[in-house]
Amino acid sequence: MTTQETIELFNKHVIGNYGRLPRVMVKGEGCYLWDADGNKILDMFPGWAVSGIGHCPPKVVAAVRRQVGELIHIDNTFYSEPQGRLAQMLSTRAFGGKCFFCNSGAEANEAALKLARLYTPKEKYKFITCEGSFHGRTFATVTATAQPKYHEGFLPLLPGFVYIPFNDVKALEAAFTDEVAAVLVEPIQGEGGINVAKPEFLQAIRRLCDEKGAVMILDEVQTGMGRTGKWFGYQHFAVEPDIITLAKTLGGGVAIGAMMAKPEIAACLVPGKHASTFGGNSLACAAAIATIETIEEGKLLQHAVDMGRYTQDKLRTLKEKHSVIDHVRGIGLMIGIQLTSPGAPIVSKCLEKGLRINCTHDTVIRFMPPMIVTKEQIDEAVSILDSVLSEV
Ligand SMILES: *Cc1c(COP(=O)(O)O)cnc(C)c1O
Repeated sequence: MTTQETIELFNKHVIGNYGRLPRVMVKGEGCYLWDADGNKILDMFPGWAVSGIGHCPPKVVAAVRRQVGELIHIDNTFYSEPQGRLAQMLSTRAFGGKCFFCNSGAEANEAALKLARLYTPKEKYKFITCEGSFHGRTFATVTATAQPKYHEGFLPLLPGFVYIPFNDVKALEAAFTDEVAAVLVEPIQGEGGINVAKPEFLQAIRRLCDEKGAVMILDEVQTGMGRTGKWFGYQHFAVEPDIITLAKTLGGGVAIGAMMAKPEIAACLVPGKHASTFGGNSLACAAAIATIETIEEGKLLQHAVDMGRYTQDKLRTLKEKHSVIDHVRGIGLMIGIQLTSPGAPIVSKCLEKGLRINCTHDTVIRFMPPMIVTKEQIDEAVSILDSVLSEV
């Protein structure tokens, strides 16, 4: 099928809810993608952070092949070893929490919000979330996403959500009434433009949750699984949340989400309260186990620190040359380039030259290479970006 034929199929039969670029992707390996016309693309934003350890990571491919031949799916009527082992691997890398598995980030956040309601007294029904956040597209998680553009057409939203500016301790204190069940926040806002939380903001959330008996939920869907140089984003801050949510890189490309909660909170999720049919199936869990092993064996956390520093230094050098770059921010390989004008034309020009990056919030370029990226690949990416910036 030609590229044009595939696009026509989509136009006829696939709902047009995505703004797609006119390319058909057919193959991925490590930091590279190939399209149907044979173009090789350096992917510095793989799968919107899903392919965080690269495309088709060999250990994940092997684990999936093995598991597919044994048992693809087993429902939660029964026990299964991969789900138990994965929960243990996550638990020992975080705060010893217990896990619930699902299939996406939004579902993980839904589970966290429901659990917070179950754990707290019923007068507590409010959730505090932050402006510029992104928590998913289901009704509850889009309500939690405090960005008016995502709410258009869906009013009235779920009641009980209170929005405060990110990193604003005073606003947090003012919003923190006795009705608050939980605060849901990203340690680094991803879709919102790579905004890093201030330690004192997360610490204030912790303190107020403790004082008021509310639940601190960190959305680690994008920050989790090593991109920042630690397993979980919160580990950069001197705080321990009550619940974290994961998805994206967790399955190394296979769909899986997870919610991890402190055991005393997790205990509220008894049979009948919440479920997910596909959640924690053997295939997805085998992929996630292999993802964690890949990160561990490849020492990819340290690599993310080293490559993150290298990338940020290089990008700051670019800033001296190109006034369109205002500044560079981020932690590890979660990097944002703040521009002084819209980034979309830069992103499409880069793609023409064989580099994939992303633009969010109009003026922020997201540069989030796979954790296996090499210096040479970063050099190549930065040099393409350099040449594009010289043209625009
Ligand atoms: C992507 C994302 C989500 C939503 O995940 P889905 O798998 O698309 O439902 C939620 N929170 C954050 C921080 C994300 O980056």
